[in-house]
Amino acid sequence: MKIIRGSLTIRILDDMHSHYRELPVLRLLARLNQLFFARAIDIGNTVDPIDNAEKYNARNKLLKNYAPKMQIKLAAVLTRTMKLHDIDKIVHAGGQYLKILSGSTTNSDQCVQLEEIEKYFSHLERAEKRKMKCLIHGEITHDTVTGLEIPEKDKEFQSLPIIKKIAHTFPGLPLYFAHLSDRRSIGFVNNEPGIKGVGATPQHFLYTKHDVYDKKGGLKNPHLVLKPCLKEDDDRQAIRNEIFSGNKKYYLETDNAPHSQENKLKIPPSYGSFSLFQILNVLETFNEHGKLDKFEPFVSENGANCHGWPLNQGEITFTIKRFIIPKQFVVKAGGKAIKYIPLGAGQEVKWSLKT
Ligand SMILES: [Zn+2]
Repeated sequence: MKIIRGSLTIRILDDMHSHYRELPVLRLLARLNQLFFARAIDIGNTVDPIDNAEKYNARNKLLKNYAPKMQIKLAAVLTRTMKLHDIDKIVHAGGQYLKILSGSTTNSDQCVQLEEIEKYFSHLERAEKRKMKCLIHGEITHDTVTGLEIPEKDKEFQSLPIIKKIAHTFPGLPLYFAHLSDRRSIGFVNNEPGIKGVGATPQHFLYTKHDVYDKKGGLKNPHLVLKPCLKEDDDRQAIRNEIFSGNKKYYLETDNAPHSQENKLKIPPSYGSFSLFQILNVLETFNEHGKLDKFEPFVSENGANCHGWPLNQGEITFTIKRFIIPKQFVVKAGGKAIKYIPLGAGQEVKWSLKT
């Protein structure tokens, strides 16, 4: 880390959780992501989820085509129709990641939920045998005993016993806990040896549920409607404490997951946030708390170390210079103009990227 007259130079970032979506917005995301990142994990929860080698190869080609400067590792998703030999073939094609996309989030209809994961233990066994890494969206929607729907705020916490069982059944399968949101999960993810890394998003690091809903429960900001839902101030503080303490198990995942403005204004809005530019506010929060020395490990080193990647050699420079988060991006598709609104659109932030 180098700090010279209002600028901060660090190792270029890795995004351990991104959604490149489909064309045509994929082209925009490829262009924006490479401003910050050298590498990213793309979650294959496309409309037609990436659950076999044919789809894996086609998407990899697409990603290479549109983001040639970045190294993007595509994560296959565990669906109910995935066969054991699909896992073999994905690994043969170079796939290293399998994602359990639980919690009824975007395009997860065909995905295996944690409530039913035991029926798919043979898949996890195969992934373990093939030396894959397993990314987990830790949420369940229904109580496994009563079948009753679980309140939104408890969905992550109640998934922990199932994740513990996975960790203990497959000790050779490295698990990565995505987008930690609940302070009650921290003891478990920190101490469970099967969990090799924990992702923290700008959304959960910067915001709380009070930024999403007003006191009467009315929706204030649809761009913060995401999964797992934003929680209380204490939860945000607990996540910050882990990161500011220098816990090396924690790393940045933007979970950058844009939806069109049309889909964000629906009721309920589509889940996910166009969070990319909030990295600049994350940086300012480290600065305000006197923790700038912990920023580079969090955004550029811990992820690589936890996932067994070599560290990036390239650098990136942030400068203290006013930047306005773009109000919108317009993507043309079939003669239509589709709007995408970034989280914090029009907001002034203190840091810019040096170009
Ligand atoms: Zn995600």
